[in-house]
Amino acid sequence: MKIAIIGGGVTGLSAAWELQQRGIEFILLEASDRWGGKVVSSKLELPDGARFLVEGGPDTLITRKPEAWDLATELGLLDQATNPGSETRGTFVLDNASLHPIPVSPSLFFSTPLLTPRGKLRLLAEPFQPARRDDEDESLADFVRRRLGQEALDKFIGPVLGGIYNTDPETQSIMVSSPIMREMEKDGGGLFAGALKRMLRKKKRRAPFAFVSFKNGLQALTDELARQLTGDLRLNSRVEKVTRDGSGYRVLIADGNSIYADGVIFATLANQTSSMIRELAPEASGRLDAICHQNIGTLSLVYGESDVPKEPYVSGLMIPRREKRMIDAVTFTSRKTPERSTAGYAVVRVFIGGGAPQMVDFSDEQLLEATQKELGELLGIRATPQIWTAFRWQNGFPQAEVGHLKRIDEIETLLPANLALAGSSYRGIAVPDCIRQGREAARKLSA
Ligand SMILES: Cc1cc2nc3c(=O)[nH]c(=O)nc-3n(C[C@H](O)[C@H](O)[C@H](O)COP(=O)(O)OP(=O)(O)OC[C@H]3O[C@@H](n4cnc5c(N)ncnc54)[C@H](O)[C@@H]3O)c2cc1C
Repeated sequence: MKIAIIGGGVTGLSAAWELQQRGIEFILLEASDRWGGKVVSSKLELPDGARFLVEGGPDTLITRKPEAWDLATELGLLDQATNPGSETRGTFVLDNASLHPIPVSPSLFFSTPLLTPRGKLRLLAEPFQPARRDDEDESLADFVRRRLGQEALDKFIGPVLGGIYNTDPETQSIMVSSPIMREMEKDGGGLFAGALKRMLRKKKRRAPFAFVSFKNGLQALTDELARQLTGDLRLNSRVEKVTRDGSGYRVLIADGNSIYADGVIFATLANQTSSMIRELAPEASGRLDAICHQNIGTLSLVYGESDVPKEPYVSGLMIPRREKRMIDAVTFTSRKTPERSTAGYAVVRVFIGGGAPQMVDFSDEQLLEATQKELGELLGIRATPQIWTAFRWQNGFPQAEVGHLKRIDEIETLLPANLALAGSSYRGIAVPDCIRQGREAARKLSA
């Protein structure tokens, strides 16, 4: 039995790892010249020797979903695990063109002008709202409106969740993005009660901290996977299509080669998978193509410490789409993880692609100019960065709209035998979700 895995991001690498544990022959095909996909850590250096570690894609992994922690344990990587903290101090939201701290403490909550007294009362009345206990999907916005009120949605919860998922909360599926909130409602009757119940139950956690990263960046995880995989691993191997070949499949690679496999795992985005199976499974292909994918990108810019205003102390800024800015969010990497930067410098990470998708197609020059303008107007950073880098993914960020999981179930029934889908377009976008899906796909095809 031989399985082909298409896509060498964290999903494909995890699928390969699982097959290797099961002693099953595999070939892993990656279009680009590196492993890891969106997991990409990069080192920047200035002529004076100052060094910075920046992340292009993910920067922290939540350990409540145990898959990344478990994988790091299996790979022997825990000695490099770091606690990036879950510090929310200094996180702001842009509202009517001015910055407001996100009310994460009782004192901030009562003093914030973000919510009217009526909005605050509505939020505090959350425990008295009727609980929904079915398993039907709804939008993130509908959920927040129902439990916490329209103001909480508009003023900070929407921008925060919309920012995390680079999405419009009005269309985003709660069952994909935050199923835990629905579980808390089902289990405890509400968010406050559900959270309390969970705290009291205190399941023994495997990881000692809520989020994890690695000393040399998250790419340590995908690098280590690639290093420990002993199967047939091929970079620069873009798969064009997959066709039937007897009882198995023929995988056609862009360089003209083709390989036979008994089963295929597509560890690629739905829009990429769609084009590979157009002839093999036209209906599934059409439905995969209908899943929306947004542009996304990040820039990491290094400034002299004195070029960045000290007040207000901003460590993160979420920018709702209604503010009509060119950038979506900002993180002060050097404030959140100072050990990754030489002292005396400030590293700012900017997220793009949601509010102004065209940013991802800009030339470097246009991109820097547009970003600088925003950082100047919003945060008073007017200097030119001493060094910077950008990562861009066109149509690279899947949007799980209401009813998404049901649609994926249906698409899977349209696939021929021994083909599996795994990764961020399907059942969860976070890295632990991707690891889980990669491993599940491997288990399914090797059963
Ligand atoms: C800016 C950003 C920040 C994020 N932050 C976090 C975070 O903090 N925490 C978190 O948990 N998650 C985060 N995520 C989400 C997470 O990083 C991704 O969902 C995850 O890395 C996706 O992994 P993947 O392997 O499924 O897909 P990808 O990483 O997209 O990998 C797919 C691979 O398939 C290859 N490929 C495509 N087509 C073909 C083909 N035809 N033939 C062969 N190969 C092909 C591509 O080159 C690519 O390497 C973030 C994502 C982004 C973009």
